[in-house]
Amino acid sequence: MENTNLGGNVDPILTGLLKPKSIAIIGASSNPDKIGYTVVKNLNESGYEGGIYPVNPKDPEILGHKAYPSVKDIPYVVDAAVITVPAKVVLPVIKECGEKGVKGAIIITSGFAEVGDHATEDALVATAKQYGMRILGPNIIGTLSNSDKMNASFAGFLPYDGKATMVSQSGALLIALDAASYSRGVGFDKMISIGNMSDVNFADLITYLTDDPHTSCISLYVEGLKNGPRFMEAARKCTKPIVALKSGVSAHGAAAAASHTGSLAGSSKIYEAAFKQAGISQATDLNDLFDRTLAFSLQPPMRGDNLLVITNGGGVGVLATDAAERAGIPLRFAPEDVQQELKKHMPEFGSAKNPVDITGQGGHEWYYASTKFAYAHPWVDGLTVLYCETAVTEPMDIAQAIHKAIVDSGVTGKPVSVSFVGGERSDKAMRWIVEQGIPCYNAPDLAVKALGALREEARIEENRQSGTYNPENVDGQKAREIIAAARAKGRTALTEVEAKQVFAAYDLPVTATELATSEDEAVRMANSIGYPIVMKIVSPDILHKSDAGAVKVNIKDEQGVREAYKVIMDNSLAYKADAFIDGIAIQEMAPWATEVIVGSVNDSTFGPTVMFGLGGIFVEVLKDVTFSVAPINLAEAEAMQDDIKSAPILRGVRGESPRDRKALAKVLANYAYMIYDLKDEVAESDANPVIVYEEGKGVKVVDARIILTKK
Ligand code: ADP
Ligand code: MG
Repeated sequence: MENTNLGGNVDPILTGLLKPKSIAIIGASSNPDKIGYTVVKNLNESGYEGGIYPVNPKDPEILGHKAYPSVKDIPYVVDAAVITVPAKVVLPVIKECGEKGVKGAIIITSGFAEVGDHATEDALVATAKQYGMRILGPNIIGTLSNSDKMNASFAGFLPYDGKATMVSQSGALLIALDAASYSRGVGFDKMISIGNMSDVNFADLITYLTDDPHTSCISLYVEGLKNGPRFMEAARKCTKPIVALKSGVSAHGAAAAASHTGSLAGSSKIYEAAFKQAGISQATDLNDLFDRTLAFSLQPPMRGDNLLVITNGGGVGVLATDAAERAGIPLRFAPEDVQQELKKHMPEFGSAKNPVDITGQGGHEWYYASTKFAYAHPWVDGLTVLYCETAVTEPMDIAQAIHKAIVDSGVTGKPVSVSFVGGERSDKAMRWIVEQGIPCYNAPDLAVKALGALREEARIEENRQSGTYNPENVDGQKAREIIAAARAKGRTALTEVEAKQVFAAYDLPVTATELATSEDEAVRMANSIGYPIVMKIVSPDILHKSDAGAVKVNIKDEQGVREAYKVIMDNSLAYKADAFIDGIAIQEMAPWATEVIVGSVNDSTFGPTVMFGLGGIFVEVLKDVTFSVAPINLAEAEAMQDDIKSAPILRGVRGESPRDRKALAKVLANYAYMIYDLKDEVAESDANPVIVYEEGKGVKVVDARIILTKK
C-alpha cells in the first residue's frame, strides 16, 4: 500500500531534492580524475532511472549522456542539481539553477563556511531562497538511496540495502560507513551527507524521513547543531526511532559563564539532555551506532520488562545476565508453567530458569521448540537467543531453526535479538539471520543491549504522549516590570529581593522577604514576620552575600535584629567600600531540610536550560547535576530528580522519609517556564539553596539570583 502521508505532509521541494526524477550534474566531466565524472558514473552504475543531464561547456557527451553547456540549456524539467564546480563559480551556478526552476541543489564543492567563508555561503542560501530552491551542503559527498537506485555522490557504491537512513555531518565518515554497512551487515535505504548545513539541516531531514516509507529508523552522526530547539521539535514529532552519535564536544559558552551553573554546564551535558528530552537514543561510539541502528531498523520497541534469554552455554548466559542488568532490563525467572514447558526441550541437566540453558547438547530441534514456545508466550516481552559454536552443531542449522521458530510462532510486534559466538561458520549464519530481519550480534551482551535500546524506545513512545506544561498563576508582565526597573538604574544583576519578586511572579515558593532601610524598620518588619528570622544585605554589588559576612540566620529577638543590622552593614562596607546598598532583607527563616540547587544558563545551541542537583558537597565536589532544555513538563521534572546519582536521598534512604518530589517537580517546571518565558531578559539565574521538605510539606526557595542579558 502506498504511504498516504506522501503528497500530504511531504514538502515537494525537499522531495525534488532527495527523490529527484531528474538530475543535472554541473561540473560533469569525461576526466576520470574529476568528481564530476565519478558522480555521473555512479548514477549510471546504481541504475538510476531518472533523467541524467551532465552540464559541461566543452564536452557534447559524457559517459553516454548528452551534455549541455549550461543548466538552462537542458530542455527538460530538472529536479536536482549536483554541483561539483570550483567554489568561486558556485554562486552564479546557483543563480542559473534558480532560473531554471531546479528544486534542490546538492553542493558537493567545499571551501565555504568550513574554511571561514561565511559570506559566500550566506549568499548561496539567499540566492536559492529567492527561487524557492533548497540547498544540501555545501561540503558534502552527495546523497545515496537504494529505493531510488540513486548514487548521487562520489562514494563508490550504494550502501548494503536495508531500512535505516543515515544522515552524517561528516562526508568522509559516511563513505567509510557506506563500506562498513557491508562488513557489518547493517542495511540502509539512504545515506545523506549534510555537510555545512547552510540550508537543509537535521530537523528538515528528520521531518522528511518521518514520512518516508523506505525509512524505519533514522541514524545520525552529529558534530554540532545550528538550531537546537528546531532539531528537538522535529525529533519529538518523529514517530520512528532516532539514534544519534554526537561528537565534537567543546566547552563553548561554559567557560564564559559567570555563575555556578555556567561552570557546571558543558555543551556535551546539554546535548545529552536535549537528545534525551527529544526521544533520541544516544550511541556511545560508531559500533554502538551500528548496533542500535540494526535493532531499530529491524525490530519493534519492547513494551514490557520481561526479557527471556535462551542459551546453549553458561558463559554467554552469564554475560547476557550482566548486560541485562546494565541495560535496565534485569532478568527475572519466568512463571512456573513457562519453566515446565521449557523443561521439555532440554536435557535433564539443563535449566529452565532465566537464562534458559538448553546446554551444549542443544541442537536445532531444541532451539526451534524452546524459541517458538518462548517467543509466543505472553509473559515474554522480548527474547534473546544465544548460540555458542560447538563441534556437534552446525551454526546455519541453528540460525534456520531460530528463524523458523519465530515465523511459525505467528507472533509479531515483539522484539527478538540473536547472538552467535564462533568462527566463520557462525559469521555466515549470523549474516543469513540478519537478512531474514532478525538482528544478530557476535557477542551476547550486544544482543541484550539491543533489546535494552528497544525497551528505551518503548518508553520514549510513552513519554511522547506526556504533553506540555502550562503553569497557573503566572504574571510574566509583573516580572518584566521588575526587570525593567532594574535596567532603568543601569543594572544587569537583580538583588535577591528583586529576583524573588520575579520568581514569585512565576508562582515559585520563595521565603517571605521585606526590605528594611533602617534599624527601626528592620525591627518592625521582623516583629510582623515572626521570629526566628534571617537578615541579609541587599546590594547589586554583593551577589555572594555570605562571602561578605552579610547573611545572619536564626535571629530570635529585637535585640538580635539591631545587632545583626549593624554587623551586616559593617561587613558589607568592609567587603566593598563603594557598594551601593538598597538596605537589609528581613526574611522568614525556613527550617532546615534537604538542600537542592536549581540554576539556569542560556545555551548557545539550545537556549534556556535548567540545571538541578543536591546542594552542598553533591554539587560542589561531586558535580552531581543534571540538565534539561526549557521548557519542561512535570514528568520531565520528575525524571530530572531521578537522573542524579544522589536521587535516593530525595526518595528517602535509611529511615529518612521521602522528600516532596511533587512540589519539587512543580518548582523545576515553573522555573523552566520562567527562564524560557524571560529568555531575552535572563542570561543566568539560580535558586541556591532550595529546601525540600517531607512528602506533602512542600519546598522553599531561600535565595534567588538573576543576571540579566546585555542589551
Ligand atoms: P549567598 O548564597 O548569597 O551567600 P544565601 O541567601 O544563600 O546567600 O544565604 C546563605 C545561607 O544561609 C544559605 O545557603 C542557607 O543555608 C542560609 N539561609 C539563607 N536564607 C535563609 C532562610 N530564609 N531560611 C533559612 N536559611 C537561610
Ligand atoms: Mg545562596
